[in-house]
Amino acid sequence: MTTATVAHFIDGAHFTDAGSTQRNVMNPATGEAIARVSMDALVAADAGVAAAARAFPGWSETPVGDRIQHLFRFKTILESNAKDLAAILVREHGKTTAEALGSVRRGIDCIEHACAAPVLMMGRTLPQIAVSSSFCRTKEEGGVGIDSTVDRLPLGVCLGITPFNFPVMVPLWMWPMAVACGNTFVLKPSEKDPLSTVRVVELAHEAGFPKGVINLVNGGVEVASALIRDPRVAAVSFVGSTRAGEAIYSAAAAAGKRVQCMSGAKNHSVVMPDALRAAAIDGIVGSAFGNSGQRCLAGSVVVCVGDSAEWLVPGVVAAARAIRVGVGDEAGCSMGPMQDDEGLARVRSSIESGRAEGAELLLDGRAATLPRSGYFVGPTVFDHVTPEMSLARHEIFGPVLSIMRANTLDEATAMINQSEYGNMAVIFTDSGHSARRFERAVQAGMVGVNVGVPAPMAAFPFAGWKRSFFGDLHTNGEDGVRFFTKARVTVRRWI
Ligand code: NAD
Repeated sequence: MTTATVAHFIDGAHFTDAGSTQRNVMNPATGEAIARVSMDALVAADAGVAAAARAFPGWSETPVGDRIQHLFRFKTILESNAKDLAAILVREHGKTTAEALGSVRRGIDCIEHACAAPVLMMGRTLPQIAVSSSFCRTKEEGGVGIDSTVDRLPLGVCLGITPFNFPVMVPLWMWPMAVACGNTFVLKPSEKDPLSTVRVVELAHEAGFPKGVINLVNGGVEVASALIRDPRVAAVSFVGSTRAGEAIYSAAAAAGKRVQCMSGAKNHSVVMPDALRAAAIDGIVGSAFGNSGQRCLAGSVVVCVGDSAEWLVPGVVAAARAIRVGVGDEAGCSMGPMQDDEGLARVRSSIESGRAEGAELLLDGRAATLPRSGYFVGPTVFDHVTPEMSLARHEIFGPVLSIMRANTLDEATAMINQSEYGNMAVIFTDSGHSARRFERAVQAGMVGVNVGVPAPMAAFPFAGWKRSFFGDLHTNGEDGVRFFTKARVTVRRWI
């Protein structure tokens, strides 16, 4: 079967540049190619930045109240297209329909938040910050008053580089706020599943965004690197692995650009003996196996404190065993496949190395009842994992849950804080004292108390700590506005 090469979207229209190398976009539930994507379309990369640079002067001078009218329309259009977008996500990513719809909704939240830009961008003024006595006409006039104001202004052309695991939601963390603040944007989505991201940008143009304000260039590392190096690009927002995030942070910062890199993770959940049992089991299973474990907020390690393992371990294994793995839009399916064969191979080899390291394999996802084709693996649970094992240290990004044990909360927290990552940490407890002690001591950017996934909310900043984040200002919330604007202070004296 021949498959079409996905078009870029530049200057308000589809743009063709196949480059010299392409890769397949796969349906992970069948292992069949559904499209081709160019990997090194450098003509498109240049055209995308050129279009954004051309659009910037007019767009940044458009009143913010007019800019957000496009976002209001865009939100409504996305809502009426949510089911179609979810269907694309099921097909190119393997999400279940419920997960796909949920991720579209979380993306729409970010558009709604960006609609508040007229308030969020407001500057501040301090009248009469000083008095100057020079040029004063009479002594009685008491000097000339000086006022000081800080304004927030757009940066110029901003670049977004996004991962495969949330191809609708993650780009919407970035570009709606960026363009609401008066910037223009070039988006380079994941080369693994770009179809839904392209569709969202098409829908933005149905909402009336002027040409060149939001542009999409497909490609792999070569295209991303060319875009980062481009002197017309002022800022880079990246979401993806730690390996890529660290490299992009160095390259962009060395080129004098503003940069934020939300990166990889290894997230822990602590279960105290006093936790509400059903809620803890439910939260942990949802966190570890939702989106087939392909979430930067997947709680992939549980630390059982005291005797909590006695009820938690059998409860988690039973709930994980009950998960129905299948094609995302089939009725009753609660977990889809891995997004690609590389991910499947990574999960399989992690299971093998976990066994070799001496962890106890309680549930082997390779032995689950699985569809015959596609990149499927079932939920996997290891017990008696120790902090030194690679199971506890490295991001697997698949449905593998590791259980560790600690005598006390402090011991559990110390185990977590050994991790090089710090994206998320969760505690399940009925004790305010334990929760507060954990919140204060644990090293993570997102902390959950009796919730499996302390998910990003549009109005709050989101990012991890340690090697889960490179940069200063986080994405979303107030930080998002600050990231996509620069401050200018004006000091005024009218003589
Ligand atoms: P990835 O790093 O392989 O790719 C992400 C994007 O970066 C893609 O668009 C890719 O083309 C590009 N890229 C890759 N290497 C690059 C390089 N050296 N230079 C320039 N661009 C490069 O990540 P992925 O496999 O698509 O996504 C999974 C990873 O993303 C996981 O590690 C996950 O934890 C992380 N993630 C983090 C967050 C967060 O908010 N912290 C959210 C979602 C996913």
